[in-house]
Amino acid sequence: MIAPPLRSNAIDLIGNTPLVLLKGPSEASGCEIYGKCEFANPGASVKDRAALYIIRDAEARGDLKLGGCVVEGTAGNTGIGIALVANALGYRTIIVMPDNQSKEKMDTLRALGAELVLVPPTKYSDCNHFVHTSRRLAEETDGAVWANQFDNTANRKAHIEGTAQELWEQLEERVDGFTCAAGTGGTIAGVGMGLKQLDETVAIALTDPHGAALYNYYANGELAAEGSSVAEGIGQGRITGNLEGAPIDTQFRISDEQGLEWVARLLREEGLCLGLSSGINVAGAVALGQYLKRQGRDTPRVATILCDTGFRYLSTLYNRDWLTAKGLPVFDWLKN
Ligand code: PMP
Repeated sequence: MIAPPLRSNAIDLIGNTPLVLLKGPSEASGCEIYGKCEFANPGASVKDRAALYIIRDAEARGDLKLGGCVVEGTAGNTGIGIALVANALGYRTIIVMPDNQSKEKMDTLRALGAELVLVPPTKYSDCNHFVHTSRRLAEETDGAVWANQFDNTANRKAHIEGTAQELWEQLEERVDGFTCAAGTGGTIAGVGMGLKQLDETVAIALTDPHGAALYNYYANGELAAEGSSVAEGIGQGRITGNLEGAPIDTQFRISDEQGLEWVARLLREEGLCLGLSSGINVAGAVALGQYLKRQGRDTPRVATILCDTGFRYLSTLYNRDWLTAKGLPVFDWLKN
C-alpha cells in the first residue's frame, strides 16, 4: 500500500480528492459512473477549490494584503472554504448568506470565526440580494476584497487546472462524459473546459435542478425556470461570468425526488452520506451514461461531483419533520 503524501501546509490539503466507482448508479445505467469525493476537502465541499484560487488571485493582483478581509455572498460552502483559507493565510472573513440555508452551515461559519451576516432570500434583481449586499459590504470595509465567486473566473480556473486534470489522470485518460449541476457554474464550466482541452470528444452535460433557468437556456436559448427545488448551492437563473463559454453538449433536468432517491441509495448501499446536489448530480450522471449508450458509446465512463457532506444537512435532508414539511419522501429508516 502506498501511504498518502505528506503535505507541507494545510492549504495543500485542498484538491487531489479521491475518485470512487459508484456501484448502484453504474449497475442502473450499464455504465461506469464515478464520483469525485469533494466532501473530502478540509471544508467538506467542492468550494474549497474556488475559495483558494479566488484568494490567491486577489493576492497576486495586490488587492489583498496581510490582515486584510475577504467578503463574500454565499449559500454557505464557499464561505466555509474562504474562512478556512483566510484563517490559514492571515485574513478576516465576512460572509453574507440567505437566512433559509441550513443551520449547520451557519453554525460552521460562526465556529470558524467568520463574521456572519444573514439576509432574507430575495430575487437577484433586488438590491438587498445576498450577492449585492456582500459587494456593498466589501466596498465599505477597509482592506477588504469582494470574492465575487459568480463572475470571478478564478473560480472556474480552479477546476480547469485542478479537478479536470485530476479526473483525467484518475481515469487513466479515458473519460466519455462529465456532468454536474451549476451554482456559480465554476465546476461545470471549468471541468468542461479542462476536459475538452485534453480530449474534445468528452461529452459535457449540464444537470439542472427544478427552479433553475439553465436547462431551457442550453436546450432552446431561453433563460426560463419551471418548478422549484430545496437543493442548496445549485440552481442558477443567469449566465454568470463563470458560465460564459462553458462547453455544454447536452442537458438534463432532475427533480428533488430523483436526487433524494440516489442520496438514500448511496447512503444505505454504499456508505456515502451526501447533500442533495450530489444526489442530483448522480441522477444526471446516470442519464448521461444512458444518453452516451444511445449514441453508440460502449460502456461509457462518466464522472460527476459529490459536492459536499450530508452531515451539513442533519436538520434538513436527514430530518423526518423537515422532509415532511417540504412534501418530500422520508427515508425509510427515519420513519419511526
Ligand atoms: N453543490 C453544493 C452543495 C454547493 O455548495 C455548490 C456551490 N454553490 C455547488 C454544488 C455548485 O458548484 P458551482 O458553484 O461550482 O457551480
